[in-house]
Amino acid sequence: MKKIFLAATLVATSVSAFSQNFQPPLIRQHIEFLASDELEGRGTASLGEIRAANYIADIFQKLGLKPYGTGGSYFQPFETSIAIEGKAHELTGRNVIGFLDNGAAKTIVVGAHYDHLGRGFQGSSLSPDSKGKIHNGADDNASGTTGVLELAKYFVENDVKEKHNYLFITFSGEELGLIGSKHFTEKPTLPLTNIAAMVNMDMIGRLDDNKGIIVSGWGTSPAWGKLIPALAKSQNLKYTVDSSGTGASDHTSFYLKNIPVVQFFTGTHSDYHKISDDADKINVDGEARILNVIAGLLQNLDKEKSDPEFIATTSNPHDGTTTSNFKVTLGVMPDYSYSGKGLRIDGVSKARPADKAGILVGDIITKLGGAEIGTIYDYMDILSKHEKGQEVEAVLLRGKEVKKVKVTF
Ligand SMILES: [Zn+2]
Repeated sequence: MKKIFLAATLVATSVSAFSQNFQPPLIRQHIEFLASDELEGRGTASLGEIRAANYIADIFQKLGLKPYGTGGSYFQPFETSIAIEGKAHELTGRNVIGFLDNGAAKTIVVGAHYDHLGRGFQGSSLSPDSKGKIHNGADDNASGTTGVLELAKYFVENDVKEKHNYLFITFSGEELGLIGSKHFTEKPTLPLTNIAAMVNMDMIGRLDDNKGIIVSGWGTSPAWGKLIPALAKSQNLKYTVDSSGTGASDHTSFYLKNIPVVQFFTGTHSDYHKISDDADKINVDGEARILNVIAGLLQNLDKEKSDPEFIATTSNPHDGTTTSNFKVTLGVMPDYSYSGKGLRIDGVSKARPADKAGILVGDIITKLGGAEIGTIYDYMDILSKHEKGQEVEAVLLRGKEVKKVKVTF
């Protein structure tokens, strides 16, 4: 019964205001090519990466975007050291960059990484015996790359001259540690002071309507809390927020340059970083709805009196003037890639409740305030039920050891 109801909701959504903007069959076409075996998992500096870069550059060119890489091309090469069979090699990866010039003073970066784990020799494959096997990376991140391509098409083909320019970037080297986006922010092809905001898409292909999307960087500007809720509602999209500007994707590189960032994510799944992250599992209708939210966000930013204000989230996570679902927080960065039971900690903010309680990076919190944590959603649910100043017990797994600590929110 619930399924039938959901299907009805989807039909209703597909005829809503933005329905004509993004075509699911086009989304599928891009993802099927980028995540095909031909591209061999798009490992940084591999032939598959170059072929994916060519595909992206061809589309940028057809759309009439200005080449904004180096030497008048769409490509921005960068050197990176990759260990192959135990020996380090200096290899060249490349970002692909196209500029939609609306003659505006400020530019918004729309980005996603297009590299993945190749044949499992680089990055962090979670498949057993992964070496030599193609990791197609359909959700991670052919889906976000497709988002960049389709948003570029949308903003080129609409009849509006926006009040911002758009710099469309697909990054490489992300899986090796955000190398492409770090390179861009160190050697930008457009002055960073001209960049008003950065919108990132990393894994937007597995929308589950029961879980909704995760929007990160929420605390880096009040603009996100002001504009995104109504847009999400218009697409019947549930969302949870993560305040932090730093996380496991390329928006981090921009946040660290004091640029407001927002990152869209449909959540982790059992195919994450495995050879089974394939195109046939992508929810293309869901991705179209997410792209509607992002297009709407970019359009609504144009209607604001000023550009998004930047807030450093490392000094005031989950509070200040931003909208947040929670009154309390632990001050941790969850590991979104962890698919086991509990909440694995990827980062701990100094002098916040988790830090004060002695919780460390790598700990897995299995119980908080008497409630079991199965997934990150349970954690968010628990947070929403607590007040500042309350003391609760956290049960955590540190290696094989079970520990109990007192946390004061
Ligand atoms: Zn990714």
